[in-house]
Amino acid sequence: MKEYDYLIVGAGLYGAVFACEAFKRGKRCLVLDKRSHIAGNIYTEDIEGIKVHKYGAHIFHTNNRVLWDYVNGYAEFNRYTNSPLANYKGELFNMPFNMNTFHALWNVKKPDEAKKIIDSQVRSLNIQHPRNLEEQALSMVGYDVYEKLIKGYTEKQWGRKATELPAFIIKRLPVRYTFDNNYFNDRYQGIPIGGYTKIVDKLLSGVEVRLETDYLDDRHHWNNLAECVVYTGMIDQFFNYCFGILEYRSLFFEHEVLDCENYQGNAVVNYTDVETPFTRIIEHKHFEFGNQTKTVITKEYPKQWKVGDEPYYPVNDDVNNLLFQRYKNLAQGHPNIIFGGRLGGYKYYDMHQVIAIALKKIAQIFDEKIPQIDE
Ligand code: FAD
Repeated sequence: MKEYDYLIVGAGLYGAVFACEAFKRGKRCLVLDKRSHIAGNIYTEDIEGIKVHKYGAHIFHTNNRVLWDYVNGYAEFNRYTNSPLANYKGELFNMPFNMNTFHALWNVKKPDEAKKIIDSQVRSLNIQHPRNLEEQALSMVGYDVYEKLIKGYTEKQWGRKATELPAFIIKRLPVRYTFDNNYFNDRYQGIPIGGYTKIVDKLLSGVEVRLETDYLDDRHHWNNLAECVVYTGMIDQFFNYCFGILEYRSLFFEHEVLDCENYQGNAVVNYTDVETPFTRIIEHKHFEFGNQTKTVITKEYPKQWKVGDEPYYPVNDDVNNLLFQRYKNLAQGHPNIIFGGRLGGYKYYDMHQVIAIALKKIAQIFDEKIPQIDE
């Protein structure tokens, strides 16, 4: 019998939920992470008494009561409501597109007036079959919203012209004809008081964790220690890129401590022109209604990804999805290795979705009723 039942590679949210649930069921777990901290990309670090989201702003939101209750078992959540602003060459607009946005754009006050402008712009463009992202967006919201709020931001994010991006990236554009700045439609949302790292710390309570340890540096050693491996790293890297490299978009974060109390008055401000090199500025204290004398801001720059960079967003186009499918098929020949999380599944998951897939996997392994939770 080996020393551990599960060796869990990755102390991110997926690894932590899996470890917590397996540990609760009496299993011996060891968690490894190559980083110097737990919590993966939801890691929050205390700087000047402010919880700083080191890998990008994270707002927990879900429509699912089971997942909301689950996460509330590990933290108390505040009443933060995501309502980002967009700054286009100095003009400010509310997001998502709603009556406040349309009022700032066209000085309209009634939904019918806004609808009329959008409809007439869409009609005048007469795009029947959008061939790219630009045409897709124009055919849904017309040119004013597209030019000021979509074009520059999207081109910076993807590093390509909107006319060169596939239409499917924008399936729908939420347009609201109410004065409602709440970005999410979900019933539950908030920020954990004390930060996300604390949640992961609680999930891992009682579980052995080793940081600054890359599983791939000595996988044979680690495999010999455990009956089963749960791998939440990049699936193509696991297989030594034998079929080729899966693509990602990456990000670069510039964190600054400022000697001022309130820099921008909102947690998230997007910069939607193409000239500003970053896509948004996050002012972390506003996630938790902080009143510290200093503030911490983060500029978020999109970045071309190459092997060795931090992989953030999988590029789920046909080529990469097909490549992923080949790795997935290969993984099926390794019944003692479970691939999980956003990197193992090569899919963008929000936090609630990661928790859902980890809980479903646990139920499947332990032959329990699979919880009815949407991912
Ligand atoms: P990760 O957090 O990436 O954890 C994987 C871990 O595995 C990492 O710690 C890594 O170091 C470790 N690892 C990998 N390979 C090895 C190895 N060989 N050896 C040892 N360790 C290894 N979700 C929301 O719900 N709301 C949001 O507002 C939100 N905002 C986001 C903003 C950005 C910029 C991004 C990129 C994502 C956002 N998300 C958001 C999604 C959220 O970050 C993910 O759902 C979550 O972090 C995924 O957890 P994970 O465990 O799958 O992956």
